[in-house]
Amino acid sequence: MHAVINPATEQVIAEVPATSAAETDAAIARAERAFESWKRTAPGERADLLRAFATVVRDHTEELAHLEVANSGHTIGNARWEAGNVVNVLNYYAGAPERLFGRQIPVPGGVDITFQEPIGVVGIIVPWNFPMPIAGWGFAPALAAGCTVVLKPAELTPLTAIRLGELAREAGIPEGVFTVLPGKGSIVGQRFVDNPTVRKVVFTGSTEVGTRIMAGCAAQVKRVTLELGGKSANIVFADADVAKAAATAPYGVFDNAGQDCCARSRILVQRTVMDEFLAGLETSVAGVAVGDPGDEKTEMGPLISRGQLETVASFVPDDSQVLFRGHCPTGSGFWFPPTVLRATESDRAFTEEIFGPVVVVVPFDDEADAIRMANNTPYGLSGSIWTRDVGRAMRVARGVESGNLSVNSHSSVRYWTPFGGFKMSGLGRELGPDAPEAFTETKNVFIATDE
Ligand code: NAP
Ligand code: MG
Repeated sequence: MHAVINPATEQVIAEVPATSAAETDAAIARAERAFESWKRTAPGERADLLRAFATVVRDHTEELAHLEVANSGHTIGNARWEAGNVVNVLNYYAGAPERLFGRQIPVPGGVDITFQEPIGVVGIIVPWNFPMPIAGWGFAPALAAGCTVVLKPAELTPLTAIRLGELAREAGIPEGVFTVLPGKGSIVGQRFVDNPTVRKVVFTGSTEVGTRIMAGCAAQVKRVTLELGGKSANIVFADADVAKAAATAPYGVFDNAGQDCCARSRILVQRTVMDEFLAGLETSVAGVAVGDPGDEKTEMGPLISRGQLETVASFVPDDSQVLFRGHCPTGSGFWFPPTVLRATESDRAFTEEIFGPVVVVVPFDDEADAIRMANNTPYGLSGSIWTRDVGRAMRVARGVESGNLSVNSHSSVRYWTPFGGFKMSGLGRELGPDAPEAFTETKNVFIATDE
């Protein structure tokens, strides 16, 4: 059994069984048997079952949201959005089974057609920062494509995933098609990598573990999608609406207490507007409402664990150049205030993913300098560009090596559009219209028509 802790109070809220390696293998075997009938289920019927699943999740939005507030310390507003995201993603991919088209390709001597065949059992490994959405981005398109799924939530945050597994059964998703297996990464997750019946692993988490998973999957040429870390830049040009850039910057990095792979944790500001930007940022950072995540007005809750709190604090040693800080509660709970640091490109706070409410501000001189600094990282997940010059926005967007960029906005994840990283931020894409194809193999069939 594993004790699940509320990070805002440090109280134990549940005991969850830890799935063993043998139990994981048994669940994978059940998923393999279920695959035989799920892949043959008529496309329209699979679509109906996904829509039914979406409806049941929608009916439990409040329950799921409150579970996430208690387990993860997410603000109630965010947690409702996250449960709603699972509903939207299920409904979006419910359109896929009936549209999983192959192609007819002109060839001499016959007819050539392709099929998108479901790949088989898929293992999904989920981190603790967004337990519901990241699970849904994997299981919804996988199930739509005709795959069956075994899913391991993070040890710290298993409660909403376990509930989603129960809701799937309630909605009529057959046994073995979607199985949630709480437990350790080194045991359950490792079986997804090593058990040859699992044909694809979808992993979201640290670049360190993701690298090992990719190496493990290589031994079986097992398919893998990786969504890893980030160190994204928020680039503010002098010709931007500087006041708006400063007012919104905290929400581009401190949302979910900075525990977001898309966090814009490096703010690059054109030197000529640095003072104006910092004056606005000081006001907006002071205005971030940090506190009880169950309170409707709260904008930022606690960090997930004591370990994460210690990691984040290590980026702000006593001799760091703190420009200003926001507020946070004291007492029990893993609290850390929004913190703004002055940094140089060689500082650890500039180079490493922090995964907490700490942001560095660094000046740049011109467009080329901004692009070079934004790319001065092994990561490439997201980023923002603030400018009123359309040509510059396009040049910089094309110049930054990153999978998801936003201009005059901090939006990263929209389920209609592809999401994923350049460089060490990952491999493959999730979401968007093509996600189900990532759970298929293309099969080519030639039929001779010669007499
Ligand atoms: P992590 O170790 O990469 O964990 C992510 C998931 O992988 C968890 O479910 C974990 O299980 C599992 N896992 C761990 N070792 C495994 C293994 N050998 N085989 C298979 N699965 C394994 O991430 P973390 O330790 O929670 O966080 C560390 C840092 O990673 C963060 O500070 C942050 O920088 C980064 N991170 C990035 C993202 C992202 O969205 N890209 C998300 C989370 C963390 P357990 O629950 O048992 O650990
Ligand atoms: Mg870890």
